[in-house]
Amino acid sequence: MHPAIQKLVDMDHLPATASAQAQALRAEIPAELLAHYDRLKARRKKGIAPVIDGTCQSCYLHLSTSAAARLRDKDDVDLCENCGCYIYPLRAAEPSAVAPRNGQSPSAHQRKPTIPVANQQQVV
Ligand SMILES: [Zn+2]
Repeated sequence: MHPAIQKLVDMDHLPATASAQAQALRAEIPAELLAHYDRLKARRKKGIAPVIDGTCQSCYLHLSTSAAARLRDKDDVDLCENCGCYIYPLRAAEPSAVAPRNGQSPSAHQRKPTIPVANQQQVV
C-alpha cells in the first residue's frame, strides 16, 4: 500500500476525539491527497474505502478488471472510478489492511496445497 494511503486509512479510523493524532497524520499526508479527501468528506462521502473482492466498499460497485489489477499489483494512490474516493486493497480473509507481505521467501514455490488436517484423516 502507498504510504500516504496508509496514513489516510489510519486517520480515517481515528475516533473524532483523537484530533491531535489526526492533525499529526494530516501533516504527513501530501496536500493534494488531503484536499481531495476533505472534499469527499465535506460531501458526506467516504474519503477512503477498502476494496474487497474487487468491490469498492464505499459505493459497492465492482471495479473494472484493469482497475482491480492495478490496485492489487502497484503500491500506488488510486481512486474508485465510480465514487472517486481513495481505494486500497483488502482481502476479505484479512482482519486488517496491514498484513505484511512475504515477498520472495525461498519456501514459497515449494509449498504444497494445504489440506485441512480433518480432511487428511478422512482419506484412508
Ligand atoms: Zn467506489
